Amino acid sequence: MDIQLDQAPCGYVSISDTGIVRSVNQTFLDMLRYERDGLLGQHIESAMSVTNKLFFHTYFYPYIQLYGHVNEMYFSLRTSAREDVPVLLNGVRQERGGETVIDCVVLEMRKRIEYEKDMLQTKTKLEELYQATKEANEQLERLHGEYESKQQELMRVNDRLEMLASTDPLTGLRNRRFFQDGLLASLAAYRESGEPFSLLLFDIDHFKRINDTYGHPVGDLILIKLAELLRSLSRASDIVARYGGEEFVVLLPETDRAKALLAAERYCEAASSTEMDGYRITVSIGAATVSPEATEVTLVDQADLALYASKSGGRNRVTHFEQVPER
Ligand code: GH3
Ligand code: MG
Ligand code: MG
Repeated sequence: MDIQLDQAPCGYVSISDTGIVRSVNQTFLDMLRYERDGLLGQHIESAMSVTNKLFFHTYFYPYIQLYGHVNEMYFSLRTSAREDVPVLLNGVRQERGGETVIDCVVLEMRKRIEYEKDMLQTKTKLEELYQATKEANEQLERLHGEYESKQQELMRVNDRLEMLASTDPLTGLRNRRFFQDGLLASLAAYRESGEPFSLLLFDIDHFKRINDTYGHPVGDLILIKLAELLRSLSRASDIVARYGGEEFVVLLPETDRAKALLAAERYCEAASSTEMDGYRITVSIGAATVSPEATEVTLVDQADLALYASKSGGRNRVTHFEQVPER
């Protein structure tokens, strides 16, 4: 064997058709730590573990017999000290000097194995990280969903609380606080647009007598019935509220004095002509309409004064503040 082949940077081994080592270069011997005499004339399988022998039998021999060559076969050889050496093997079966020989080139593959191990480890780590990220994302989505439904629940609770805080429990009408807010908003809108609005303040006539005669529960029932009546006669944009005790207030947007008086007459007439669970009542009403100088205090005071005028005028009637003598 010439020196170039003997010391080529890859192992070279030539075996007979039956697997006997005929020729081997120094690189191959160094790779497997054999002396030349230790391998020459031996069966190539003496440099293999049992599993690799099996592989050699089931793959290498049949393949090379069939196709005349084997390319990039990847398996392990064994050193004289019985250590596995991973290798890549190319073989070709050919006639030489009247004999069939199989020439093989063998490259040690340790580095590649290390790389593959590294890659495998990295891949496993990546998969673990991906799984952890996926789980964290799912958890985040679950939490986000919970947060959203909690937030909606909170909004529903808030709406309900707000409703309760602005509702009169006996009649279900808006309460005085809600009316005051509405009055402030109407005044602000009036200052922007100049569109007039009015208030009607109601007080049940001789209500004390009803309580005294029929009892407080009947009084309550009448308050509820009157509330229903006021609501049924009002527009959606009106604010109908219980102002206190047996007093009610209706805030009428887009309503000047004349319209306010018409509306008040309608309410007054309906109250006196409607039987409330077998009882009859009348109401006195005081009306007031916004003016450029009006404030939330003066408007209510004006409606109150007008109401007082209705009372002193004989009850069951309507007075607008502007009709009150000696204002
Ligand atoms: P006037 O025509 O001058 O308004 O006479 P009045 O009897 O209605 O007025 P007064 O202020 O003397 O009496 C109001 C009565 O309303 C006294 C009070 O017991 C009654 N009242 C106030 N709130 C309620 C309530 O929630 N339920 C019942 N049943 N009665 C109430
Ligand atoms: Mg009263
Ligand atoms: Mg009264």
